[in-house]
Amino acid sequence: MFLRLLSALLLGLSLFGPLVAEDRKPVIVCSTTQVADFARQVVGDRMIVKSVLAAGQDPHLYEKKPGDAQLVSTADLCLENGWHLEGNDWMRKLAEQSGRPLVTCVEGCKSLKVPGVEQAMHDPHAWFSCTNAATYVRNIRDAVIKIDPEHAEEYRSRAALYLDELRTLHSWILREINKIPVEQRVLVTSHDAFNYFCQAYGLKAATPVGWSTGNEIGAGITPERRQETIDSILQHKVKAIFVETSVNPTMVREIAREAHVEIGGELYSDSMGAEGTAGETYIGMMRENVITIVQALR
Ligand SMILES: [Zn+2]
Repeated sequence: MFLRLLSALLLGLSLFGPLVAEDRKPVIVCSTTQVADFARQVVGDRMIVKSVLAAGQDPHLYEKKPGDAQLVSTADLCLENGWHLEGNDWMRKLAEQSGRPLVTCVEGCKSLKVPGVEQAMHDPHAWFSCTNAATYVRNIRDAVIKIDPEHAEEYRSRAALYLDELRTLHSWILREINKIPVEQRVLVTSHDAFNYFCQAYGLKAATPVGWSTGNEIGAGITPERRQETIDSILQHKVKAIFVETSVNPTMVREIAREAHVEIGGELYSDSMGAEGTAGETYIGMMRENVITIVQALR
């Protein structure tokens, strides 16, 4: 009886062992929902991935909450988008204040310059080309291997599969966009989030607001930009324009009324969709965006 009890206890302990280790899973804290999804694709259940931004929140305008410093202080690794997507570099500051290591995901991406700004500034919305998204994933893979080299093979395998999925997504987008007549391939949205997307998939972008929804250099709305957007719509006889899930839709709705065009739908721009929606992953948000765009413009 005693022996049976002892062996049951030992078995219990050995089962309990990994559970204790599970409690100490490394924590990755990401600034944006896209970066958090890329991280999840690479680490699976091996690490805990959290995002400072929730679905639908705008990274340019984000104001740090009291709980953010606490969250970041628990991180074994912090991931930011970079190129000032995070308004006034809030993620970098949070990581520095807590002394946590930070990796910038856009490092090594092919960059587009912010138009109309004298100093060389990189447009931060680089994830919108699948080729750049692949660079984010490689950066994240290398960063997690550094903090957990023991499971390197596992991270490499997951990343390899996901990179294949990104290549498939890339060719699918090219095929879908081809269904839109060439002269109709103009994408009008609130702010310049889609320049990488348009460059990679053969559309022309037009927006009333610049690269950031905040008051940074070269950003924000000007009467000239607003007028240029309306001119673009009229000149190309654009059938529909789009609101963004993370940006106030008022401006686009006003422009739609003035230029007599329809709202073609809502696009995921700087944030993915809420949990349980079709846009809750990067691949999902890209797929839903493309379907919305093609249906409205073809
Ligand atoms: Zn943006």
